[in-house]
Amino acid sequence: MALIPCRECGQQVSDRAKICPHCGIDFPSGKPLAQARAMRASNGISLVGFLVLLLAMTIAGKLLGGVFIIASGMALFVFLVGLYFLPAFLAIDRDHPNTLSIIIINLFFGWTAVGWIICLVWALLGKRNSAP
Ligand SMILES: [Zn+2]
Repeated sequence: MALIPCRECGQQVSDRAKICPHCGIDFPSGKPLAQARAMRASNGISLVGFLVLLLAMTIAGKLLGGVFIIASGMALFVFLVGLYFLPAFLAIDRDHPNTLSIIIINLFFGWTAVGWIICLVWALLGKRNSAP
């Protein structure tokens, strides 16, 4: 948490404050909620896009053969690791208040399908830690 000048009155406010305590304007940090949400959404989309790309490489390797087999194997490995830690990535991306707990449970119980699903749901349901 840092103190920044309010975009309206210039007084010191928390960069996480939703309302300036001095002048009452919404989001004195100058980052409107919609913009912050759009940034979060684009992060999520790029993460999913990355996993899709890895999956596509895996399939391409299976179809094309040859040198692509190696790339395919590496892509599949990264894809599986990425998928395994998806709940942890989501928790970090969403600035989840229980990020550390989710990472630990994801790490040790993610291999049980139930543990992985619990982590995923927990990561998605949790209240955001930081107000934009
Ligand atoms: Zn202000």
